[in-house]
Amino acid sequence: MTTSIPVRTKLPQVGTTIFSVMTALAIEHQAINLAQGFPDFPCDPVLIDCVTKAMKDGHNQYAPMAGLLRLREVIATYIYDLYKAEYHPENEITITSGATEALYAAITALVEKGDEVIVFEPCYDAYIPAIELNGGVAITIELEPPYYAIDWKKVRAKVSDRTKLMILNSPNNPTASTITQEDILNLKDLIEDYQFFILSDEVYEHLIYDGRTHTSMCADDLLKTRSLIVASFGKSLHVTGWKVGYCLAPYALTEEFRKVHQFLTFCTHLPTQVAIADYLQNDALSKFADLKKMYQTKRDYFQQIMQETRFKPIKSKGTYFQLFSFSDITDENDTDFAVRLTQEFGVATVPVSAFYASGRDESLLRFCFAKQEETLNQAVERLCKI
Ligand code: PMP
Repeated sequence: MTTSIPVRTKLPQVGTTIFSVMTALAIEHQAINLAQGFPDFPCDPVLIDCVTKAMKDGHNQYAPMAGLLRLREVIATYIYDLYKAEYHPENEITITSGATEALYAAITALVEKGDEVIVFEPCYDAYIPAIELNGGVAITIELEPPYYAIDWKKVRAKVSDRTKLMILNSPNNPTASTITQEDILNLKDLIEDYQFFILSDEVYEHLIYDGRTHTSMCADDLLKTRSLIVASFGKSLHVTGWKVGYCLAPYALTEEFRKVHQFLTFCTHLPTQVAIADYLQNDALSKFADLKKMYQTKRDYFQQIMQETRFKPIKSKGTYFQLFSFSDITDENDTDFAVRLTQEFGVATVPVSAFYASGRDESLLRFCFAKQEETLNQAVERLCKI
């Protein structure tokens, strides 16, 4: 006989993430998966050789808690080259098990019971559960389609002395919008009046298009002192399964960040750290520039072939996502339509309502274009039937 012990949930609003749900549905219906954000093409074979070599060379035991120093030095160099920002590899850069771990560690390090955290919606789904698990309160501010620009008047109305942290994500998942220099000026104005920290999710920093440059929090002297910046090699090297990321933060913030990191994962997979350090050692910048060109070409190609369908694009400024409106096709809600699209037409996407706590539904789906042309062609062929 089994006795069931009631388990009180700490996250009553949370089920399985929409990415896992749509991916499982895609597998069940043999649909083309444009839902989850991962490339369906391989990474550079040189990078694979670097990992194999690292393993053969015996780099198979625990990494240092803060990450392989050589990799932190490589990061410090290219961050300086890109943004003219200095981070000390010893005590201001920490290698993490993906950006996901870095986000959780940063939120846990800073947010205490009752602290308020400003979150812009639609937002990546890892933020709010981490805030709530730490007893914090997410104060959400909705961005308005189609531009998803930040309305700083709304922000000023919601920031107070209770605000501990603001989470920013540019280029943004899922909206594919980016913040501007004007946003930076508004943010600086606000931060002079209120003493909050910034958690800046910059995992798509190299995926920014049409001549735009990434606005990193570290490029501004004032904002750099208040920010933890999170990045991911999964995105920049086409290896989302490796889960290697990092956090840049001034010394005092890094000290608190590492107190959590050391008990969350202690350290990150070593052979991949050795490989990434070897791979990026001499020409990180040209590799990142190639990435930008490659994804912009994919975005343009996907948008061009999607013109054959009845979906209407909201142009992507960055990331490897593109939103499309289906308001000309059906008045079903976005989740029902996304499920039907997977089951009946064989293309999986993510409904944008999943990125709002309120479930706001603007008849938009998020498509991932980090796919081979052939995959995109097949998907569009199917979408033309709607
Ligand atoms: N932040 C955003 C905005 C993301 O889209 C993702 C990945 N989907 C992450 C963080 C997590 O990155 P990682 O896979 O390195 O944990």
